[in-house]
Amino acid sequence: MTTAMSVTADREQSVVEQVPKGLWIGGGTHPAAGGATLAVTDPSTGEVLAEVADASVEDGRAALDAAVDVQGSWAATPPRERGEILRRAFEMMTARADDLALLMTLEMGKPIPESRGEVTYAAEFFRWFSEEAVRIAGSWSTSPDGATRLLTMKRPVGPALMITPWNFPLAMGTRKIGPAVAAGCTMVVKPAAQTPLSMYALADILREAGLPDGVLNVVTTSSSGKVMEPLIRDSRLRKLTFTGSTVVGRRLVEQSAEQLLRVSMELGGNAPFLVMADADMDAAVDGAMVAKMRNMGEACTAANRFLVHESVADEFAQRMAGRMGSLRVGRGTEEGVQVGPLVDAVSRDKVAELVQDAVNRGGRVLTGGDTVGDRGWFYSPTVVADVPTDAVLQTEEIFGPVAPVSTFATLDEAIGRANDTEYGLVAYAYTRDLATALSLAEQLDTGMVGINQGVVSTPAAPFGGVKQSGFGREGGREGIEEYLETRYVGIRPQ
Ligand code: NAP
Repeated sequence: MTTAMSVTADREQSVVEQVPKGLWIGGGTHPAAGGATLAVTDPSTGEVLAEVADASVEDGRAALDAAVDVQGSWAATPPRERGEILRRAFEMMTARADDLALLMTLEMGKPIPESRGEVTYAAEFFRWFSEEAVRIAGSWSTSPDGATRLLTMKRPVGPALMITPWNFPLAMGTRKIGPAVAAGCTMVVKPAAQTPLSMYALADILREAGLPDGVLNVVTTSSSGKVMEPLIRDSRLRKLTFTGSTVVGRRLVEQSAEQLLRVSMELGGNAPFLVMADADMDAAVDGAMVAKMRNMGEACTAANRFLVHESVADEFAQRMAGRMGSLRVGRGTEEGVQVGPLVDAVSRDKVAELVQDAVNRGGRVLTGGDTVGDRGWFYSPTVVADVPTDAVLQTEEIFGPVAPVSTFATLDEAIGRANDTEYGLVAYAYTRDLATALSLAEQLDTGMVGINQGVVSTPAAPFGGVKQSGFGREGGREGIEEYLETRYVGIRPQ
């Protein structure tokens, strides 16, 4: 495994060199019209890793043309064949996990063991949906008056546009691509400009796994808005699925209204993490570390607000500070590193501003609270106690390694505070009391709730939010439904 020792520069270069860097259209790799390229940077050094094709509007349209051309033949491909392609891709990702993990660490920053974890998580979506492909079913019934037979069948929605963020460069792709392949949809994928290499590596794997040309097309561009909007407004596109910020999601929903697209939106979060007075404190601190520090806090599911019962708040904050303060920060390819850089200077500076705002309003920094090093975009793991409710840390997505702790006195207050946000993706709660756990599960206004666990993501469960965190579900039995339409056929026996 790559984790055994730091990675050599030769090996870094070799995994980057292997990746196709052109636009992936119609099963092959092509330069952008006019030969434009965009640079991919290593956030731990600020150095350019590679140049990939920078698509124009015309390139984007060519990708949709390719997807539209094969939609009919792909929809007619037997489900078992579609499933087997995903299964082979799952096995290939698993076999190549070390290379994929290194590539991801280089372009995105997370430490190698975390990238390894994401490769497994991402591949599992292919395994899950390889099994779902052959379970697409309809129904048969008799109308209440007995005159007609009612047949329902599932049909693929049609060509889909998938726009994904940089924080989970593979998994945010496979949880869209997996169900689309299983359902018989063709697609155009646009990964984030910061992390295109992982997606191009994945496209190559799917080709090798037998995915027919044109079913998956990938375009990278430095002009997302300009290149994506004509596709969203193109009547041949039938589905838009987006993972990213709420502000961009809202704009895309507006654009999608023109063609009345089927739309799924996986948007931002502001997850509360509740620690009740009776919680198992060891488990709560372990769970809090995962919920906060997975992906350096750059996750939509990251615990954003720690709400702790006043009787245990000091103990919790001190123990968190001890754990956070002992984490090793550094380049993700180095052995023993637990916290990598943030994705870019803007993100790092925003985190620093949020902490400063909390301090200005009376918050106490127990550990961290500063940038690290003069190269790359590092920020130290930070705990801020006594964070007032009006601090921006409590209302905005932090997207960094900062844990704000504040207190509550009663269960009702905890639930009220937890729900006092425009977001509704996930909430976490630690308690040993069954009645309290049930109250929380029923009253927290989020798409997902983790009781006594700091991670909820799994391909076997429906991931998604409510309120400004979006709509639609990825994974579970629900995930494939996002790519299927129901057709009803009435049959009157003669
Ligand atoms: P972002 O700025 O919204 O970008 C996400 C994707 O949208 C990128 O591919 C980006 O391309 C593209 N994009 C940006 N502007 C666009 C436009 N006008 N038209 C079409 N595409 C456009 O979000 P981010 O900062 O990269 O990602 C972090 C956000 O994602 C956070 O809010 C996080 O909570 C959310 N997220 C949600 C989930 C979930 O499942 N709910 C999972 C992971 C992340 P460029 O790279 O070219 O800008």
